[in-house]
Amino acid sequence: MSVKQSQLEALAAEILNCKKCDLYKTRRKAVPGEGNPQSQIMLVGEAPGHWEDDKGEPFVGAAGKFLDTLLTIAGLSREDVFICNVLKCRPPGNREPAPNEIQACTPYLDRQIKIIQPKFIVTLGNYSTAYIFSKANLSFAGITQVRGKTYEASVLGLSVTVFPTFHPAAALYNAKYKEELTNDFRRLKDKLAKKGITQFSRPT
Ligand code: URA
Ligand code: SF4
Repeated sequence: MSVKQSQLEALAAEILNCKKCDLYKTRRKAVPGEGNPQSQIMLVGEAPGHWEDDKGEPFVGAAGKFLDTLLTIAGLSREDVFICNVLKCRPPGNREPAPNEIQACTPYLDRQIKIIQPKFIVTLGNYSTAYIFSKANLSFAGITQVRGKTYEASVLGLSVTVFPTFHPAAALYNAKYKEELTNDFRRLKDKLAKKGITQFSRPT
C-alpha cells in the first residue's frame, strides 16, 4: 500500500469515529471520500445526501450519476480522481451546512489536500468554492460569477489550479445548470490538457 493510501485510510478511520459536531448524532455513515490517492485531481462537493449516508461513499445518488457523466465528458473516470466533500456527515434533510459544522469538519479536508497534493481542485457548488477560495485568499463573489474559469492559487502552501463549477445536483432540477455544467466539464478537459495533465495519477 502506498504512503498516501495508508495516510488517507488512517484519516478516514478518524472521520468514521468523529464527534466534533452534532451531525454525528444523525448520520448513519460518515463519508470521508474516495478515489485514487495518487491523483493530481481532486473534486470537492458539499455534503453527503441520503444515499451517501446510507453507503458511506461520495456521490452515489442521482447527483453522483450525473457526476459520472460529467467526468466522462472531461475524459476522466472515478479511478482517475479523488472525490470528497466539505462536510463528511449528512446534514438532516439535506439542509445547508452550518458555519460551525464547516469549521469543525474542514480540518479533515485540509489534511486530505495535504496528503494528496493535487495539481487541480474542482469545486462543486457554493460551499466548496467558498471554502477553497478562502484558503486561496481569492475573493468569492458567488458561484455564478466565478464558475467555468481557472484560478492559479496557493492552497495550504501548494500551487494548485482551482476550477469552480455548479453542484451537479443543480442540474437535476434545472436544464440551464445541466447545460452549463456540461460546458464546464468540456472546458475542464481543455484546461487539463493545457496544463499537460494527461497522466491523471502519479506513479506510486
Ligand atoms: N452531494 C454532495 O455534495 N456530495 C455528495 O457526496 C453527494 C451529493
Ligand atoms: Fe465530525 Fe465532520 Fe461528521 Fe461533524 S460532519 S461529526 S466534524 S466528521
